[in-house]
Amino acid sequence: MTVEKRTPIPVKDAIERVVKESFVMPTTTVALDESLGYILAQDIIATYDIPRFNKSPYDGFAIRSVDSQNASGEHRKTFRVIDHIGAGSVSDKTLAQGEAIRIMTGAAIPEGADAVVMLEQTIEDDDSFSIRKPFEHHENVSLQGEETQENDVVLQRGQHINAGAIAVLATYGYTEVPVYRKPSVAIIATGSELLDVADPLEPGKIRNSNGPMINALITKHKLTSKVYKIQHDDLESSIAVVKQATEEHDIVITTGGVSVGDFDYLPAIYEALQANVLFNKVAMRPGSVTTVAVTKDTYLFGLSGNPSACFTGFELFVKPAVYAMMGANAIYPQIVQATLMEAFAKPNPFSRFIRATTTFNGKEMTVVPSGFNKSGAVIAIAHSNAMIMLPGGTRGYQKGYTVDVILTDSTAFETELLL
Ligand code: AMP
Ligand code: MG
Repeated sequence: MTVEKRTPIPVKDAIERVVKESFVMPTTTVALDESLGYILAQDIIATYDIPRFNKSPYDGFAIRSVDSQNASGEHRKTFRVIDHIGAGSVSDKTLAQGEAIRIMTGAAIPEGADAVVMLEQTIEDDDSFSIRKPFEHHENVSLQGEETQENDVVLQRGQHINAGAIAVLATYGYTEVPVYRKPSVAIIATGSELLDVADPLEPGKIRNSNGPMINALITKHKLTSKVYKIQHDDLESSIAVVKQATEEHDIVITTGGVSVGDFDYLPAIYEALQANVLFNKVAMRPGSVTTVAVTKDTYLFGLSGNPSACFTGFELFVKPAVYAMMGANAIYPQIVQATLMEAFAKPNPFSRFIRATTTFNGKEMTVVPSGFNKSGAVIAIAHSNAMIMLPGGTRGYQKGYTVDVILTDSTAFETELLL
């Protein structure tokens, strides 16, 4: 049998091919409390100004600024307090000359008043207080519309719904939020050597770590998945299972079986399903055999069985596809630059992705591999918060070079307080 010849394409082209296919999910609505992590399906327009009325940012006294003119340490100005209001209340009084209303943070500025004196700026007496400095028009007043005005677009379609977006939606009274549906995901680990987590070890076998890892990555992005049982390297049964998964899910992620070995059946499965293979070789290490195919309305991600390659394939291809499907504006890997703290002197024609730890040392971002880093490595993934990205070429990389780094896990960042 001859080995199938595959033509590698650059990583960037591969990512572009994947997201271009994007089947954008239909829209729906979800309860505000459930909306975290969804992508907003409509622009949100301010239905009123924020703040909605002029209000006090402090506890103090609302005054007419004209009455404070010429106040000084020697000539303090005295005000008579005619009312008290807390947040949520409005005064029905209108200030006349020399009068003030005691006001608490968040309360509406009363009629006639145009400035607020902070409590700390006064000397109080029973029903009066004095001040030692003049106040300007609108001093210590949060003005109506200073943050946003009616009809402004406050959230954009395609925005990731984060905690701040939920606060904005709550402000404007959205109990239901328009979003794109999330794709449903099937996860299928393939390989006759694989054992389930609970199985005792046997000669020649290994436990399936990719399945749980991919499931965790899917869960991290707040998607739901169905984890299929491990598929042995058997063509007929694997075709049946992958076919069923493509019918039931928007995304099918398989691990293993995408190389050119005797029992690597994914290429034959794509053929049997008449899937359109977008690429089956990427100019990268690890994971050069990563394959992405599409059927009528499903993505098939054929990730390598090697754990580090499998993880890399998820970050580079699955994640952008997921967010493109969910209608997100921001879909690509998050890249920063950091100083390489270890040399990779040997040139490599393929781009190299290295599970790594990036740290801010108080002066600059630095990055080091997070341990033994061959494509079969698993432990380095656990200790990484990023991937070093070394473009392929004819030169190596020396310690001290500035390199691009893809951030993969913000939960594993600084251990020291660097404020
Ligand atoms: P494959 O991509 O099927 O050629 O597998 C490449 C390597 O990854 C082999 O050493 C496999 O034993 C290993 N491998 C495959 N699937 C998994 C998995 N689900 N969990 C851990 N290792 C795996
Ligand atoms: Mg295999």
